[in-house]
Amino acid sequence: MLDWYKLNIKGVAMLTIILLLALMGALYHRASLKVTSLVLAAILVAWSAYDGIPYVHWILFLAIFVPLNLTFVRRKLSARLLDVFKGIMPRISDTEQEALDAGTVWWEAEMFGGKPNWKRFHNFQKATLSKEEQEFIEGPLEELCSMINDWQITHIDRDLPPEVWNFIKEKGFFSFIIPKEYGGLGFSSYAQSRVLTKINSLSATAGSIVSVPNSLGPAELLMHYGTQEQRDHYLPRLAKGEDVPCFALTAIEAGSDAGGIPDKGVICKGQWNGKEVVGMKLTWNKRYITLAPVASLLGLAFKLYDPEGLLGDKEDLGITCALIPTDTDGVEIGRRHYPLSTPFQNGPTTGKDVFVPLDYIIGGPDNAGKGWRMLVDCLSAGRAISLPSSANGGVKMASYTTGAYARIRRQFNVPVGYMEGVMEALARIAGKTYMVDSMLTFTASGIDSGEKPSVASAIVKCHTTALARDVACDGMDVHGGKAVMMGPKNYMARAYQGAPISITVEGANILTRSLIIYGQGSIRCHPYVLKEIQATQNENRKEAIKDFDKALFSHVGFAMSNKIRTFWLGLTASLLVKKPQSDFTGRYYQRITRFSSALAFLSDVTMGVLGGELKRREMISGRLGDMLSNLYIASSVLKMYHDKGRPEHDKEIVQWSLEHCLYETQMAADGVLKNFPIGWLGKALRIVVFPLGLPLSPPSDKLSRKLARQLQEPQAMREELTHGAFKSESEGSNLYKVDKALRLQLEMEPIVKKFSQALGKRAGNHQVVPFAKEALDAGHITQDEYQLVLDAEEARLEVINVDDFAPEEMKHHLSEN
Ligand SMILES: Cc1cc2nc3c(=O)[nH]c(=O)nc-3n(C[C@H](O)[C@H](O)[C@H](O)COP(=O)(O)OP(=O)(O)OC[C@H]3O[C@@H](n4cnc5c(N)ncnc54)[C@H](O)[C@@H]3O)c2cc1C
Repeated sequence: MLDWYKLNIKGVAMLTIILLLALMGALYHRASLKVTSLVLAAILVAWSAYDGIPYVHWILFLAIFVPLNLTFVRRKLSARLLDVFKGIMPRISDTEQEALDAGTVWWEAEMFGGKPNWKRFHNFQKATLSKEEQEFIEGPLEELCSMINDWQITHIDRDLPPEVWNFIKEKGFFSFIIPKEYGGLGFSSYAQSRVLTKINSLSATAGSIVSVPNSLGPAELLMHYGTQEQRDHYLPRLAKGEDVPCFALTAIEAGSDAGGIPDKGVICKGQWNGKEVVGMKLTWNKRYITLAPVASLLGLAFKLYDPEGLLGDKEDLGITCALIPTDTDGVEIGRRHYPLSTPFQNGPTTGKDVFVPLDYIIGGPDNAGKGWRMLVDCLSAGRAISLPSSANGGVKMASYTTGAYARIRRQFNVPVGYMEGVMEALARIAGKTYMVDSMLTFTASGIDSGEKPSVASAIVKCHTTALARDVACDGMDVHGGKAVMMGPKNYMARAYQGAPISITVEGANILTRSLIIYGQGSIRCHPYVLKEIQATQNENRKEAIKDFDKALFSHVGFAMSNKIRTFWLGLTASLLVKKPQSDFTGRYYQRITRFSSALAFLSDVTMGVLGGELKRREMISGRLGDMLSNLYIASSVLKMYHDKGRPEHDKEIVQWSLEHCLYETQMAADGVLKNFPIGWLGKALRIVVFPLGLPLSPPSDKLSRKLARQLQEPQAMREELTHGAFKSESEGSNLYKVDKALRLQLEMEPIVKKFSQALGKRAGNHQVVPFAKEALDAGHITQDEYQLVLDAEEARLEVINVDDFAPEEMKHHLSEN
């Protein structure tokens, strides 16, 4: 009797384990409910045939899986849950709904989905330039860059010289996004990013001026929403620079909360060209508007009201966008703000009761009240290109110059770049530069393939600009006093000074990081949440139950799958995940897959626990957003490396960047768990996410040292990392000077070593030239070698020297200009 009992217990346990393993396997692989049920049923049938009927297991199986598979039964439960959800879910306003509906979701959704499809990833098109784009980059762009003197622009003129303005307009620099049929250049996003990167590597002021007409503004809005008449009139003028556009949304009391603008238009009758027409009386007070002081065409966002019912029965029509020629009576422009010593044209604009006809609305009267939708829909492309290109130009310039400077600047008789503290900074500069370029390139290629990725564009804007600021700070530190002293010889300080501009514009970074990326990401990128929300808002109850049921039960399966995947991937350190690449990157693909599952799992639990409250818990949502962002950045790095043909010389920088991103991802997850709103649940979740503790470290010192050395030598990694910056061969260019000094320094060093040994003494910095002369006189070096030492020292001093000014030159006050 006892033996039989023991045997049976053994059998029961074994069957339970088999069933659980099968269930976990099905969940891990995201098998459908039907397939999972069939697999479990098959196991039970087989067991019944060979070992007798396991009644308890059959009862449990039938009790759980039959109702789940019977749609009419399941929907009864769904109907009840739908009512509960309706009670809890905050109603989504029209404005929020428009922001949620805007754009598309792309690779970031794979990161959010917990099981990235790497095959799809490698099939994404590679960013390329057409012949025409390449010719533009080699022709007009080079010419423009050679006309720019940033010190003259930023310090003396506080504007571009007239010939540069004219060149920009004539050569079509304002028309990259305008199609050829309207006289524009019709460039791809990738081409735009390359052009803007180069200009910004030289001058953020010139870069900003070129960016704005190619970003969200009149041209973009006209192309998507303008009437044919408006397009035919304005686009050719904008393409040729006959019209200079600006777009005014921000008001004094409405910055980040742009939907709260107080500027208004009232529909009324008035006189226009001698006739009485129905139009709008506009009143606005905008600030921070780029190009406004010199604009001839003002794109204006305002709230439109129709109190007399001249358009219909709706009084409050909502945000509307119109194009107002700035020579219209009552339009005030011309005064300038002064943004952080980066004096691109930026200023306020006002107008009081300015009467214009209704056909000034972009798209005509039919688009009255549709302005917000238009803006959010068009935001993503520009947001992912303009400011990220500015960041890219800045980091490439900083990498190129700081690497060289660290090598030629000697203290304690060694290059400062050989000191480990400086090496740490150099490694960060190099790695972060690679990350910025990767994000921009990857996302531009996505946009060129037809995507309008609203979440990815927020990630790219926020993180490229934040990384660029980090790089600028490190670059300043490595240069020491050289970067502090302003003057034409200073190539670092303007990038450092201007960094907060990119941080603030087009969605200030704190808001973007803590609210937008995850807030929008959790709804748009999640495979089921938006569907659930939409079902709760559906007035048709039958349809609502059907949709809710489908989304809810798929969501439950998704969440269970992510839990199993996260735990298993943590337990096995993701070593069993199939590697899409067999080289050193394979391990990083595995880790991204692991953390993608962890993000999906933590997201569901956090949303479940906090619900609508999550919107206010930005410290939690910001960290979840950081997980998403860092996984996206890591993917971009892998893609750029892949598309470049996996070059050997990029190996270390790719490794550094990936280890940095994955460590940041891990620490963001750790932060969520440590601060989880329910303490015990945070601890329980930690067992699932990190069953073996925190596995990752930041990039090692050894790796950082390697990267730092590579940045200080003119070899392939350094050259490619900074490819696309303006490396003029003109003697006046600071980038040319610093690179020349580096190359000469490296050529000179063996000569110095040779004569130091021959003379039996080591030359300190200031002794190199006198000792070289002594060596020449003693016949230890040739005349050519001596000349090289003189040239190298001259080049080095030219770079490490800073500017000084006569007292009267220092009396240059803003009010005098
Ligand atoms: C140089 C420059 C050029 C510009 N060009 C234009 C232009 O051409 N056209 C135009 O219309 N506008 C333009 N802007 C305006 C720009 O878009 C706004 O500055 C931006 O939206 C932020 O508004 P704000 O500066 O008033 O900051 P605020 O809205 O006052 O924000 C202050 C801080 O609070 C944070 N914050 C706000 N809300 C939240 C939240 N919910 N959660 C977390 N953090 C939050 C922000 O991130 C920021 O750090 C420009 C601005 C600058 C500085």
